[in-house]
Amino acid sequence: MTVPLIYDIGSPGRMGTTLPDVEVPETELPKELLRKDLDLPEVSELQAVRHFVNLSQLNHAIDTGFYPLGSCTMKYNPKINEDMARLAGYAHLHPLTDEVGSQGALALMVQLQEWLGELSGFQGVSIAPAAGAQGELAGILMIRAYHQSRNDKKRVKILVPDSAHGTNPATVTMAGLQAVELPSDKHGEVDLNALRSALDDTVAGMMITVPSTLGVFDSKIADVIRMVHEAGGLMYMDGANMNALLGIVKPGELGFDVMHYNLHKTFSTPHGGGGPGCGAVGANEKLMPFLPGPIAAITEAANEENDAPLYGLVMPKKSIGRMKAFQGNFGMHVRAYTYMRVYGGEGLREVSRHAVLNANYVRAKLRGVYPMPVDRICGHEFVMSGTVEGAEGIHALDISKRLMDYGIHPPTNYFPLIVHEALLIEPTETEDKATLDMFIDAMKRIAQEAKETPDLLHSAPHTMPVGRVDEVRAAKQLVLCCRPIPEPEGGD
Ligand SMILES: *Cc1c(COP(=O)(O)O)cnc(C)c1O
Repeated sequence: MTVPLIYDIGSPGRMGTTLPDVEVPETELPKELLRKDLDLPEVSELQAVRHFVNLSQLNHAIDTGFYPLGSCTMKYNPKINEDMARLAGYAHLHPLTDEVGSQGALALMVQLQEWLGELSGFQGVSIAPAAGAQGELAGILMIRAYHQSRNDKKRVKILVPDSAHGTNPATVTMAGLQAVELPSDKHGEVDLNALRSALDDTVAGMMITVPSTLGVFDSKIADVIRMVHEAGGLMYMDGANMNALLGIVKPGELGFDVMHYNLHKTFSTPHGGGGPGCGAVGANEKLMPFLPGPIAAITEAANEENDAPLYGLVMPKKSIGRMKAFQGNFGMHVRAYTYMRVYGGEGLREVSRHAVLNANYVRAKLRGVYPMPVDRICGHEFVMSGTVEGAEGIHALDISKRLMDYGIHPPTNYFPLIVHEALLIEPTETEDKATLDMFIDAMKRIAQEAKETPDLLHSAPHTMPVGRVDEVRAAKQLVLCCRPIPEPEGGD
């Protein structure tokens, strides 16, 4: 199906809305603010509705099909989260409402911070940052501020394993520090010898994802943390995805000093399309005073006069400051809070157990069909190579594009960078066995097709409104206009 441009379906004078009569005297708008040539589509309400509903149906979504996009955690977002976020008392609360007028919202934020602290083993939590990458930046700025507060100015390096998410080295650079890449050993874990030789008194800390982006739990993580601490560095955990850890591992108890969690991944708040997120940051006692603010807190305990505590907003003593206007993306707080309340503590542990079980089930079923460079029990996701023995010229991209013909969203392609033709697969706990079996079956059929009819893969997808796009051109000549821009004359 294709959807015509909205400019091509209207006609002059058509209106989709009726404006109420004016209740105030009409005045002239300043001439310089009026544009005569504003070229807007003129469509009826029904045309507009059909146009946008048809457009929305061109998209793959977790509500329409399986979406095993590794590291991104496209789990189902329960609709009760949306009902709660739309409650008028939350949705219509103006961010400038004073504390007395926003006690309910502040209480929710305090509770969410407490639960995140409990899950991670950290004493302080800020839910102000708007995304994982912003949480990372906050955490690394906190490490930097900590060293500077002790006048330890030579610590300018942050060690980052070569399997890291691209945001990690970018964060380090943005924080004004230097990213130093650490190689992984053949098991996909931190190479302790390389770590030992990288450690000295210029190291501010280390940033590591747990489980790693290869999907595995580093069996020597306790040694890694001890070694960095002994060298005077601090440990940052990228906890964007906590799906394997809930109720099982507390990063704070492992010895990490600071971490971020993506509420829009682990705690089922919707994401994609760059929408609002929450990259909460947790910190131990050492780094707590540096957390970004404002943080919701009990400012006056319940007493004889007031049977409820008084909630307010505070800035931590040595705070790195604000990462975002107001209190962060409050709608995300409501959704994550709801998700946790619905599951409860034991339920969250089950979430992780099922996420790990589902990933290992798919991994075990695809062993021998595709190469598994890290062939061991995984966490919530696993990585394989998108190549097929006996099929020449088949790439991860061909397999991914062909999956679309089966109605499945492709896994993450070509990340982590250290795996040849990487496909990172994260089924999440919200899928049932029938869906996982459907995916496994599709992957097996594609492996067979790769050997027998490889062109079917090379020319995939066959069922989508758009085939393969020129990704380089799409990135270099981004067109965000809904109308095609005429080709520049005279070629390149
Ligand atoms: C998603 C992700 C991030 C970045 O989170 P954003 O909210 O997209 O900024 C960082 N690290 C890892 C491991 C991730 O999966």
